[in-house]
Amino acid sequence: MQFGTKAIHAGVEPDPTTGAIMTPIYQTSTYVQAAPGDHKGYEYSRTHNPTRTALQNALAALENGRHGLCFATGMAAIDAVVKLLKPGDEVVSTNDLYGGTYRLFTKVFEGFGVKFRFVDMSDLANVEAALSPNTKLIWAETPTNPLLRIIDIEGLAALARKQGCLLGVDNTFASPYLQNPLDLGADLVMHSVTKYLGGHSDVVMGALVVKDDALAERLAFLQNSCGATPGPMDCFLVLRGLKTLHLRMQRHSENGAVVAAFLAAHPKVDKVYWPGFPSHANHAVAKRQMKDFGGMISFTLKGDRMDDALRVLSSTKLFSLAESLGGVESLLGHPASMTHASIPREDRLRNGLADTLIRLSVGLEDAGDLVADLQQALG
Ligand SMILES: *Cc1c(COP(=O)(O)O)cnc(C)c1O
Repeated sequence: MQFGTKAIHAGVEPDPTTGAIMTPIYQTSTYVQAAPGDHKGYEYSRTHNPTRTALQNALAALENGRHGLCFATGMAAIDAVVKLLKPGDEVVSTNDLYGGTYRLFTKVFEGFGVKFRFVDMSDLANVEAALSPNTKLIWAETPTNPLLRIIDIEGLAALARKQGCLLGVDNTFASPYLQNPLDLGADLVMHSVTKYLGGHSDVVMGALVVKDDALAERLAFLQNSCGATPGPMDCFLVLRGLKTLHLRMQRHSENGAVVAAFLAAHPKVDKVYWPGFPSHANHAVAKRQMKDFGGMISFTLKGDRMDDALRVLSSTKLFSLAESLGGVESLLGHPASMTHASIPREDRLRNGLADTLIRLSVGLEDAGDLVADLQQALG
C-alpha cells in the first residue's frame, strides 16, 4: 500500500458494533468484564483504549514499523525512551537538539546518573569519537531545529550496529511522509504528534514507533507504568489529521520551496537555511533520505541588529508569531528571544544562532500571499 492510501486507511476499521466509518471516541475509563479476566482485550484506559489503538496502528503503518505507542506529549515519548537506560549508561546526541529534549536530558536524567554527550552529528566522525563502551543510545534529530542541519541516518545506524546500541530518531520536522528512519536502520522513531501529524494546531501528543517486538513490549510497559498516555478525544483528532498528511506535506514542501527561493533572492536577507538548496552542506544526504524538503526554513538578515529582526517579526500579517510548527497556518519565531533565550548569547552565536535568525513554519496558504506578506514585512 502506498503512503496516501495508508494515511487514510491504516489502523482504522469500521466500528464493529455500528459500522461507523470513523473510529469512535471511546470516552471511557473502564470496560465491563463478563467474568473476572474475561474481557475483550480492554480493561482500563491507561493501558488500552480502542481510539488510541487505532491511532497507534495507523502510526506504525506510516513509519513502516510494527508497533506504535502514543504518549500525552512528545516529551513523554522521549522520557519513555531514556527510561530504557540505567545509571552509568551514556547517550550521544546532537548539539542543536530540540530545547525541551536538551532540558529533559540534562536537567532531569543527568540527576539519575545517565550521561549525555552532545556533538555536531552532521559529521559522523564526531559521533564515532563520542562513543564509549557505555553508550547505549544514539539520539538524533534531522532536520534539526532551527538551523535545518541534516544528519545521515543510515550512517548513524551503521555506527549504532557496530556499537551494539539503540538508535532513536526524532522525526518531528520531517514527518513520516518525508522520511522513514526505521527503513534507514533506526530502532526507534519518535514524533511530536503536536506538529505535522496532528497538523491543525489543536492537540499536544507524542508517539514512538518500533519494529522489534521485545523493545515494543518494554516501551508498552513504561507507557502503562509511568502513565503519560493521551485521551481518546486527542487520538480522534490526530486520526482525522492523518487522513490528509500526504496532501499537507506536499503543499508544505511546495510552499517551502517558493518561500525559500524568495528569501534567497531578497537583498535584505543574508543566509537561508533550507535543505532543498544544492548549496546546503548536506543536501546530498537530504535528497537520499527525504522524499522532499518540507516547509521549515530559517533565515538571517544582513547586519547583526536584533531590532531589524524584531521589526520583521511584528510586521507580518499572515505569518503569526508563535512557538510550535507543522500546522496549516504559517508561523514565525525568533529563536534568540523565544525558544533559545535561556542559552547565553555567546553560546548561541557560537552555534550559529544569530540575533537576526528567524524561523518559519510555512503553512498551507497560497504561496503568493505568503511571499507578499514577507515582502511587505521585510520592506
Ligand atoms: C515540539 C517538539 C518536541 C516536543 O514535543 P511536545 O509535543 O511539545 O512535547 C520534540 N522534538 C521536536 C523536534 C519538537 O519540535
